[in-house]
Amino acid sequence: MTIETIEVEGLSTPVSRIGLGTWAIGGWMWGGTDEKDSIAVIRRALDSGVNLIDTAPAYGFGASEEIVGKALADGYRHKAVIATKVALEWQDGKVFRNASPERIRHEVEDTLRRLRTDYIDLYQVHWPDPLVPIEETAAVLDDLRKEGKVRALGVSNFSAAQMDAFRRVAPLSTTQPPYNLFERDIDRDVLPYVKQHGLVALAYGALCRGLLAGRIGAETRFEGDDLRQHDPKFRAPRRQQYVDAVKALDVFARDNFDKSVLALAVRWVLDRGPTIALWGARRPSQLDGLEAAFGWRLDDKAFAQIDAIVSQFVKDPVGPEFMAPPQRVLVS
Ligand code: NAP
Repeated sequence: MTIETIEVEGLSTPVSRIGLGTWAIGGWMWGGTDEKDSIAVIRRALDSGVNLIDTAPAYGFGASEEIVGKALADGYRHKAVIATKVALEWQDGKVFRNASPERIRHEVEDTLRRLRTDYIDLYQVHWPDPLVPIEETAAVLDDLRKEGKVRALGVSNFSAAQMDAFRRVAPLSTTQPPYNLFERDIDRDVLPYVKQHGLVALAYGALCRGLLAGRIGAETRFEGDDLRQHDPKFRAPRRQQYVDAVKALDVFARDNFDKSVLALAVRWVLDRGPTIALWGARRPSQLDGLEAAFGWRLDDKAFAQIDAIVSQFVKDPVGPEFMAPPQRVLVS
């Protein structure tokens, strides 16, 4: 299988256009985790040519980074491009934005220790913090880059204007927005900005939290603290619209390309621009369809047919905004 790759400014290794997302591997908000399966899926990704592993300190309050660190020990580190994040802190099981220079200086050391490495390939600001000027955040990150702790810088959930502010101070290589064929706000300004300035977009939720993998039905239940219990897309009666759209997209993908809806969803992200699709998987078998995403393309006609199917079934669309963490409350 030939995995497509893309160049990311600041990184010497080409990056696979599918990245393994490890939020669920952290357990928190996904109903728990299984360490053995988690390590196995990370190594399966790397052995298959997927070199980008996306994680964050907030995923399981350190658990996801710890597991990535364990999986990369024993000779796997050199195969991986580690993308992690910074600027969310947590207290009593709740996360808050904090992109202050002090927080970043503190977090980077914890992250390096958990990942068992002495450098981070791509360091991304997880969410913009309205209490800290973006220029201050960018400046401290650029210092970390110059010190060699970090190779390239990225942001996540930033607007075009916020990326502009960052780029005035430090080189920006990537942004990480939500993007899939049901959630496409970035088509308006973020993706055009990415193309204009030579960035790469790491699309998160490429499978729309599993919906676009094609196995979730109207009756599927989610256990424990799984965020899909609170995701407005997964609530009745709206969920039925999405499930019906996925079924129709699956028929479309099979009739026209001999592919599943999962491969179609990943391909859709890859054919929209300089993108990488982040694929959240927590056990090796979930990567079984990996190769089906490569070796073909969607053209304008196919994009239009997909749009028509989505609007035929999804009459009451809703975005991923429910995931945004709150800002800190400053006590004076
Ligand atoms: P996703 O990739 O859209 O969906 C992940 C879920 O899809 C998995 O947990 C799994 O569900 C299901 N799935 C995957 N492969 C499957 C298969 N072959 N068959 C059936 N189901 C399958 O969602 P995501 O994890 O939220 O997003 C991907 C990554 O993007 C995250 O892991 C994280 O790295 C990143 N992310 C970043 C942000 C940010 O703010 N920057 C926000 C969200 C996500 P089950 O759990 O039910 O097995």
